[in-house]
Amino acid sequence: MQFQGNLPTKLPLAGTTIFTVMSALAREHQALNMAQGFPDFACSPKLIELVNHYMKQGFNQYAPMPGVPLLRQKLSDKVSTMYSASYNPESEITIVPGGTIGLYAAISAVVRENDEVIIIEPAYDSYAPAVEMNGGKPVFVKLKPGDFSVDWNEVKNRINFRTRLIIINSPHNPTGAVLSAADMLKLEKLVEDTDIVILSDEVYEHIIFDGLEHQSVARFPKLASRSFIVGSFGKTYHNTGWKMGYVLAPENLTMEFRKIYQYMAFAANTPIQYALADYLDEQEDYLGLPVFYQQKRDYFRSLLKGTRFKLYPCQGTYFQLLGYEKISTEPDTELARTWIREHKIASIPVSVFYRDKSDHHLLRFCFAKEDATLEQAAKLLRTISDQS
Ligand code: PMP
Ligand code: GLN
Repeated sequence: MQFQGNLPTKLPLAGTTIFTVMSALAREHQALNMAQGFPDFACSPKLIELVNHYMKQGFNQYAPMPGVPLLRQKLSDKVSTMYSASYNPESEITIVPGGTIGLYAAISAVVRENDEVIIIEPAYDSYAPAVEMNGGKPVFVKLKPGDFSVDWNEVKNRINFRTRLIIINSPHNPTGAVLSAADMLKLEKLVEDTDIVILSDEVYEHIIFDGLEHQSVARFPKLASRSFIVGSFGKTYHNTGWKMGYVLAPENLTMEFRKIYQYMAFAANTPIQYALADYLDEQEDYLGLPVFYQQKRDYFRSLLKGTRFKLYPCQGTYFQLLGYEKISTEPDTELARTWIREHKIASIPVSVFYRDKSDHHLLRFCFAKEDATLEQAAKLLRTISDQS
């Protein structure tokens, strides 16, 4: 079927997201899917039991729009313990069906026609389209090549009277870089005496390595008072398919956020919210994630030792960047497709995270996988390295 009328596209630059494309190709060619970020192991059976329990108990109707009060209270307690920050569960915490919708509603809440939004690249692919759908103009600042640190001077140079929002993401997808306390203080200084709002994507807050501490904007009261923080239970509890997240923001930002969000989703899944409220008591679960994922990172990296891949540092997230300069001269988007077809392994080309499609010959591999999967991936990658 085809619509016969005139319908100019609202997002001329957008196709289907790379995650969907690569997962579909991986399925089609029966390739190992190291592309889209999701674990291939089970989430906690206890959490599943709790969801079942609340479903059976009849907690199956709409949750309150901002979320189940007990879950908001538990989140407030957690943020207070972890980041010494005070968020009022009534007026400053909203439970949403996944981080993506939280990002979109936060952007919608503040960005108007011709507002500028600073986006640090490579960037998660949902930011810029959300800005553009709201009439805003993304202004891209690239992370420094090599260590993927932020050039705050460059950010400063791009700030002007039109700048409405700055989006940051730490631990960072796709590079695995992490912002330090010094970074946060520089950002704080840059925006003081402005009306700029910060959107801090912290969905990988618990996946951080080598003893580093996550520098949530919540730790910096001056920043927190102008910030939305987006979290995702899917990353923390190995259940990306449940699509559960939350947004923390000062009361007046939350009020604007909820005005939009109530017409986007209205509310998130009820029984899962009750289950998460109970499960948040199991602190050792999320506090154990750095060790759990660091082992996976180290194992995957050790399996690739001696190959011709360049292993980039990974301080957080469950993504490892591999440089293939010594192996192929093909553009990354081509090569990712070729390897799915010919070597049965799927990855994400990093150029798609840049508006200008900068190609540094980098592919992103997700290591949130069983050890056996990591071994299989390494075997395929070794063959590629040896053959080319
Ligand atoms: N931000 C980043 C950086 C992500 O990697 C993801 C994962 N897709 C999200 C936001 C969205 O999280 P969710 O799956 O909860 O929508
Ligand atoms: N965040 C995940 C990634 O970066 C995937 C999210 C999605 O598929 N939209 O791979």
